[in-house]
Amino acid sequence: MGTYNINYSINYKKIKKEYKLETIVTDLESPIITLENTNKKYICPNYNLDDFKDYKVIDNYDTDLENKVTKYIKDGKLYYTVEDSHGNKGETNVDVEIADKDAPNIILNGYEDIYLLQGTEYKEPGVTAYDTCEGNLTSKIIISGTVDVNKIGEYQITYSVEDSSKNKQTKTRTIHIYNSSIGQDVKKNGKIVYLTFDDGPNAYTKNILSILDKYQVKATFFVTNQFGGYQSLIKEMYENGHSLAIHTYSHQYKNIYNSEEDYFNDLNKMDKIIFEQTGIHTKLVRFPGGSSNTISKFNPGIMTRLSKLLNDKGYKYFDWNIDSGDTGTINSNKIANNVINGMKSNKNSVVLMHDIKYANKEALEKIIYYGLTNGYTFLPLDENSPTVHHSINN
Ligand code: ZN
Repeated sequence: MGTYNINYSINYKKIKKEYKLETIVTDLESPIITLENTNKKYICPNYNLDDFKDYKVIDNYDTDLENKVTKYIKDGKLYYTVEDSHGNKGETNVDVEIADKDAPNIILNGYEDIYLLQGTEYKEPGVTAYDTCEGNLTSKIIISGTVDVNKIGEYQITYSVEDSSKNKQTKTRTIHIYNSSIGQDVKKNGKIVYLTFDDGPNAYTKNILSILDKYQVKATFFVTNQFGGYQSLIKEMYENGHSLAIHTYSHQYKNIYNSEEDYFNDLNKMDKIIFEQTGIHTKLVRFPGGSSNTISKFNPGIMTRLSKLLNDKGYKYFDWNIDSGDTGTINSNKIANNVINGMKSNKNSVVLMHDIKYANKEALEKIIYYGLTNGYTFLPLDENSPTVHHSINN
């Protein structure tokens, strides 16, 4: 940038001629402001325009104009203006409305349903509230509702909060007070539920065992050896009165369904572990992938042959008629609802769950509580239980 003089001169026969060309190098181009989003903007009432950094500035000369943008609001528009070092101005604007339209968000600490044995102290786990405009509003939360831990029943604790623009949010938590005879006074509805857990044991199996124990519900574990170091839980399952069943040692479909011999090698390895832990041999089996699996199609007819062989050898295999869906979601409400809806429509429910899924800790308690208070009977599978079989596809 600047003014440059170019001098031209000539000497010829004692005549000197000079010419001066003045050249100005300057910048006449305006900077261009572009916005990330040109949709109407909703701005919090306690706004600070310095917080808006949703633009870029392009200029032919200056490179640091982004920090020099000034913003102001006028007549329903937010203006962005900037001036480059040579006085060229750029401007853009977007429609704005100053309003807080979003209710604060309330997040429960701990579970949405809490199950307490009658007489046990209820400790409020608390909640957190956060508002887009006003930040943390936890201190403004109003908690209402009471719990009588000595009286069986369901109690609602309500958490509500309002931001300064009067947007309200409410969440509730249900406290279920039960006693050890939960379900005993409920008229039995004649429906049986067999809870079954596949693929463990692993680190989450303890959760499942403790919930089952809390309600004295017996279930069935189709065990594997996929996770090292948890074999002693098989012993605990057995001692707690649950049924033990063979799922698979490796759960490797390619290997298990490679041949009849490979299948039984895998099964026998699992049988051996169960025997070492419990001193019993179980006759209950569940195929990896279920008897209807198509993953074994690389070996045509293997499922047909294996199901006959199991029968010939005195084993009894079980599929399921309720899939909890616990392999497809971590939402414990969804899992519990899948199971509860299935229980309502079956006389005998065989429920597929996986003790290796963390979400089942909460889901299982909902399922059991619902079942016990609505007349269902939970039983472990045994050799005389009604068989639930899928149709074989291979
Ligand atoms: Zn499995």
